[in-house]
Amino acid sequence: MIEQRTLSRKISLSGIGLHSGMAAQMTLHPANPDHGIRFRRTDLGGPVSDIFASVDAVSSLERATTLSNDAGHSVATVEHLIAACRGLGVDNVLVEIDGPEVPIMDGSSLEFCNLLKDCGIVGQSKARNVIRILKPVEVRLGDSMASLKPTGGQMLSLSAQIEFAESAIGTQRKSLVLKPGSFCKELSFARTFACASELESLRARGLALGGSLDNAILVDGDRIINPEGLRRKDEFVRHKLLDAVGDLTLAGGVIAGHYEAVQPGHRLNVDLVSALMARPGAWCWERASSRLDRFLPRRASSASGVSLPI
Ligand SMILES: [Zn+2]
Repeated sequence: MIEQRTLSRKISLSGIGLHSGMAAQMTLHPANPDHGIRFRRTDLGGPVSDIFASVDAVSSLERATTLSNDAGHSVATVEHLIAACRGLGVDNVLVEIDGPEVPIMDGSSLEFCNLLKDCGIVGQSKARNVIRILKPVEVRLGDSMASLKPTGGQMLSLSAQIEFAESAIGTQRKSLVLKPGSFCKELSFARTFACASELESLRARGLALGGSLDNAILVDGDRIINPEGLRRKDEFVRHKLLDAVGDLTLAGGVIAGHYEAVQPGHRLNVDLVSALMARPGAWCWERASSRLDRFLPRRASSASGVSLPI
């Protein structure tokens, strides 16, 4: 049995949001089995309902993933934190946050991973909820494509290809099996990136207001503007895989299957998760618990004819 896991104690950090530029402090709390990853805004006053890390809670996908609850309270740019939780096998955590956007830190998941490791992660004597892919599911969006396919294994494997006109990025491919330790070693440090040619339009749309060379790679044609350069030559495609790890976690369980994508983005990834949830025959729960249904995306629980309660 692979146990669900949570933090051994609460832990805090603060920083500014990439898109809003607003400062926020977060405190991550341990949570019970089957709680999942949830966010709670502490700056809104009065009782507020939690915001679930679920595909049904996605309210915006413009350059980042934003989640909202039924009251319209939202938290933006959740993907790098969720990816770190998934990468380190943290299933259950409550994230209290006093602002509208998760701090971007250095633009990667590295500081979240270090925080989670420093804090300590503990097993919860209850089996992890696994979503096993049974049949291929594919989505397309313009020139982008993403798919999930069955594998015999227990792990999520990922493969992505990107192609950019900027020769500093060019064509990059990366494949990875998400086994213990591989997220920290292979993906966690890969930073988000932007092209100089799109900065003005991003800012005109109210995006990237907190962006700087301290929290993003800036590319201009064949040049990397950041004085320190890249952490790896293929840092860009590694970041796309990091984002995919976060976005796929919005399915509400740990996916056992193979993810493959060409030119992926948040919208494509979330479309893929939605398409999967909408096809009950394409997946099943393994070791799902009876308590879980209350916390699953609505479409997921409506597909729970294939659940395997333990
Ligand atoms: Zn990202």
